[in-house]
Amino acid sequence: MIKKLNVVLIISDGLRPKDLSLYGRKEEYDSNLKKIAEESVVFEKNFTASNASDSSVTAMFSGQLPRTNGFIHQHPFMRDEEIEKLKKNKFWLPLYLQRIGYQTISATPLHLWFKKGFDFYMSKEQKGQNKFLNNSFVKKILLALPSWAYSLGKKISKKRASPQFYPSNEVVDLAIEKIKESEKENKPFFVFMHLVDTHYPYPIAEMKKFQGGKDLNKLLKEVEFHSQREYLKKRFFDIQAHSIKDIENRRDYSIKFVDKQIYRLYEFIKKEKILEDTIFIITSDHGDSFGEHSIYLCRGGLYDPTIQTPLIIKFPNSKKEIINELTMNIDFAPTILDLIGEKKQNIDGKSLIPLIKSGKKLRDSITITDSYCNDRFCERTKTKKTIITNSGGKCYLCGGEHHKQKKEVYDLENDSDELNDLSKK
Ligand SMILES: [Zn+2]
Repeated sequence: MIKKLNVVLIISDGLRPKDLSLYGRKEEYDSNLKKIAEESVVFEKNFTASNASDSSVTAMFSGQLPRTNGFIHQHPFMRDEEIEKLKKNKFWLPLYLQRIGYQTISATPLHLWFKKGFDFYMSKEQKGQNKFLNNSFVKKILLALPSWAYSLGKKISKKRASPQFYPSNEVVDLAIEKIKESEKENKPFFVFMHLVDTHYPYPIAEMKKFQGGKDLNKLLKEVEFHSQREYLKKRFFDIQAHSIKDIENRRDYSIKFVDKQIYRLYEFIKKEKILEDTIFIITSDHGDSFGEHSIYLCRGGLYDPTIQTPLIIKFPNSKKEIINELTMNIDFAPTILDLIGEKKQNIDGKSLIPLIKSGKKLRDSITITDSYCNDRFCERTKTKKTIITNSGGKCYLCGGEHHKQKKEVYDLENDSDELNDLSKK
């Protein structure tokens, strides 16, 4: 029997296309991703089904939109019934691949439902995870505390913002070790890597000194709500930042670091002469805000910087190509099944292969769920976005009321920054 293609799925957490030169940014921190893109298909309009890590990865593994798979809100805001509903899902990518003989490896620690279907995953205990700070109740309390009490508590307990961190160089080392083992066993592998370096608090950049002046007080005047100011003060305190430029510098440093590590894995696969037997997907789970719509370091709101994600797919004999049609992270699983010759599943996502091979458009519009809000979603076409906020607009994460009215409409062709709400006209 012919051995199935290997699959590598890499998420660089919070990475936005607009921060990459591959997507047109002037500054270049992603020279290696650009090299990989030379032999891959790059998607210019790829979106996550949800703006938060947990529900985004759930959408990728289930191939289903949050409303279909039942898992909508980010930890610690999700409800018990969301996990219960998720259990009823029939399709789950790691489990499917495991059943057809893949060695399924997560070179990253996983929690809860993500462990399903993995032969190996990194244990959180290996890194001395702080159970107290990761308790959902404690997380909620910390978010609700006034910033002075928060800072004082953190100073007393000397607890760092990121009690657990798995730098991408270690994740790649582990992936390489596990790939070698699968090769020895002559089994196809599925390697999943969730790199958190590129997400606040950018722990890999922690020890670096960055220049950026001091502008927290200016930002505090700019943000609209008291709770957002409190949130921002805590975020600045946690990483001892002085300005948003300082934080952006840490982000860019982290992008450069992750870019190098991803390429190290890519080069290893090339050296092993299995690149042409491997599907390589590089993406992120959601975006972030660095001042867009006066939102700082929060993913709430459903504006493009928080929901658009990079997507690079390398597969056997793929050639450099740029695709401008709407695609989503729920499409990854059906694309993988298509490429490894498995039959189509009854799920929301669609294989990207017909789009790549013959330019066949998959859909006219996409729906994206806000995982940091009670009931908000958006419908997006290539040129227009409608955001609907059904019951109260308050963001669970930063406390901002990003949307005061029930409906917002943006003309993305003439207003790509989504500043001019046409529903007000
Ligand atoms: Zn928010």
